[in-house]
Amino acid sequence: MNSTTMDPNVESRLASISHVIGDTPLLDLACRVNGKSVRVLAKHETANLTGSVKDRMALHIFRQAYADGRLKQGDTIAEATSGNTGISLAAIGRMLGHKVRIFMPDWMSRERALLIRSFGAEIIPVSKEEGGFQGSIQMADAFAAAEPHVFRPQQFSCPSNPAAHETSTGPELEVQLRGVDVTPQAFVAGVGTGGTVMGVGTHLRKVFPGITIHPLEPANSPTLTTGHKVGHHRIQGISDEFIPEIVKLDQLDEIVQVWDGDSILMAQRLASELGLAVGISSGANMLGALQLAEKLGDGAVVCTVFSDSNKKYLSTDLCSEEAVLDDYRTPHVELSGLAVHASAGL
Ligand code: PMP
Repeated sequence: MNSTTMDPNVESRLASISHVIGDTPLLDLACRVNGKSVRVLAKHETANLTGSVKDRMALHIFRQAYADGRLKQGDTIAEATSGNTGISLAAIGRMLGHKVRIFMPDWMSRERALLIRSFGAEIIPVSKEEGGFQGSIQMADAFAAAEPHVFRPQQFSCPSNPAAHETSTGPELEVQLRGVDVTPQAFVAGVGTGGTVMGVGTHLRKVFPGITIHPLEPANSPTLTTGHKVGHHRIQGISDEFIPEIVKLDQLDEIVQVWDGDSILMAQRLASELGLAVGISSGANMLGALQLAEKLGDGAVVCTVFSDSNKKYLSTDLCSEEAVLDDYRTPHVELSGLAVHASAGL
């Protein structure tokens, strides 16, 4: 990055914001699943400024765009997002003094829309008839083409998105794992933009040869497996109806599938049994990690991320009674212990 061309004012703001983003603790969960003792280590991404993993991406995209002159003071930030990215772009965008305009499918949780608005951003709701996720992207592109001084972060294709995880989440995880003398066998993460799984995966592959890196999708809506939108699911933040440009399936190991209802049950148990108030995609990632660990056998260690908290899902099925179906894994899991490892100090 050529930071010498950056306005020193902006540079110092970016540096100060970086103190409230990243460098998250590591949750160490001891579990028993179908008679096997396994360990899941999850980055606690709720600890970020706005409570989700997307703060890392937003900060990195802004930093890189300022450094190479694509983003300037006075520009409006416009993006299509299913929620957490909008919240991160709004908060960090406003911290940096930008106007923020978010194009968002109108069926996302009410909490997400209210949060984005609370950060002073403007929301353009996009209905299914107007094209849903794809329509949001087209509308953001059209706005940027019609107006001067608009910056489009383009989270689904921007290389700064996986780079954020390759340079922060991945190295932090490595330092924390080495600190407890653990070599992980696999990493799994639900795919929204794919930034997390591609970026963390790239770093972990370099430093832990032999590790497998798995993208995760809802079994009810297996877009990665089929290549297009299929079915419906309730794991907000992942499987947005298409395979993002960032995702390179040929560089990843086998796709892991979990049911949305099972993910809800797991997220509920993480909160009620361990005090970990996580969102539905964290429940999904936990189940994905357990599925891989069970296959790897007794003593397996699998890493993942807990991407956000339950706060944005209080009005959703996460806080209702969920039916237990026969092929769910959650009822066969014992959450037997939790330790928290300090942040890496990077
Ligand atoms: N979980 C949640 C709650 C999210 O908001 C997102 C991002 N949309 C993800 C998981 C997936 O992260 P990524 O975009 O890095 O694939």
